[in-house]
Amino acid sequence: MRRFDYLRPKSLKEALQQKKTIAGAKFISGGTDLLVQIKNRELQPPTLISLRSIPELATIEINGGARIGALATISDIIQHNELGLNYPVLVEAARRLGSVQIRNVATVGGNLCNCSPSADMALPLLVLEAKVRLRTAKARREIQISEFFKGPGESCLSSDEILTDIILDPPHQKAKATFLKKGRVKMDLAIASLAVLLEMEGGKCRKARIAAGSVAPVPLRLYKVEALLEGSTVTEKLAAEAQRLATKIISPITDIRATEEYRRQIVRVYVKRGLEKILG
Ligand SMILES: Cc1cc2nc3c(=O)[nH]c(=O)nc-3n(C[C@H](O)[C@H](O)[C@H](O)COP(=O)(O)OP(=O)(O)OC[C@H]3O[C@@H](n4cnc5c(N)ncnc54)[C@H](O)[C@@H]3O)c2cc1C
Repeated sequence: MRRFDYLRPKSLKEALQQKKTIAGAKFISGGTDLLVQIKNRELQPPTLISLRSIPELATIEINGGARIGALATISDIIQHNELGLNYPVLVEAARRLGSVQIRNVATVGGNLCNCSPSADMALPLLVLEAKVRLRTAKARREIQISEFFKGPGESCLSSDEILTDIILDPPHQKAKATFLKKGRVKMDLAIASLAVLLEMEGGKCRKARIAAGSVAPVPLRLYKVEALLEGSTVTEKLAAEAQRLATKIISPITDIRATEEYRRQIVRVYVKRGLEKILG
């Protein structure tokens, strides 16, 4: 591993200033993605700026909705009672990410900023229509999480920008959601994954949100499947149509972990399973 400088700023202001002025510097949160990439020589940053000494980045606040600091670890999310009560799908996904050891250091912000198509936390946040707060030394912005991912390893963050918070609207009383994930073994990155959220009213689907992982260059909202379900009673026939449509929209690849065909098959099964799990 090549040597690098390791900085530990005590404030967000200091971290942003360092990022702006030190060429090639990278933020590091838990390091569970970044250090692997450095060890594999995929990246050789001269400087790492640790975000772990900035307490304000790690807090979780329930305020009707929720604000989750980017530095909250996956374990913090699992252990936060109110978050789990209000957004159970978030905890369902968090429990499937890595091992206890990984979950204790891996952060939700790092999971999103690494921009892997298989990022487990991306899917519940997509179906919950989370917003993300981004900040540079000079400006702040808040965008929909669906606009954040641009490609494998690529987000809409500019080179001197940081993800500070994830914002969730208050939970809808009638919304129910679930997360499904297939790995090669129990503790593995997803070969394919799916999150489904439905709001039902009078036997009809008022709102559907569906997102798929590991089957496209980015964690993907399946907008056309959502539109198909909304306003209708979810019959066997409609569910079968949703399955067909979902497998058309995705663009999985064959790689060391699974074939394209297998990934399509998992999504096909998961669309049905997700709907059944929610509708009973
Ligand atoms: C053994 C093992 C198993 C794993 N299993 C899973 C799994 O099942 N599911 C899964 O989704 N992932 C898994 N991962 C990947 C990884 O643990 C997660 O993606 C994790 O959430 C990354 O968070 P981190 O804090 O460690 O990120 P880091 O490694 O610190 O950072 C990742 C990237 O994001 C950038 N970054 C971090 N924080 C910010 C921020 N606030 N603002 C801007 N940029 C930022 C960094 O510069 C870096 O480019 C696994 C990793 C390992 C090593």
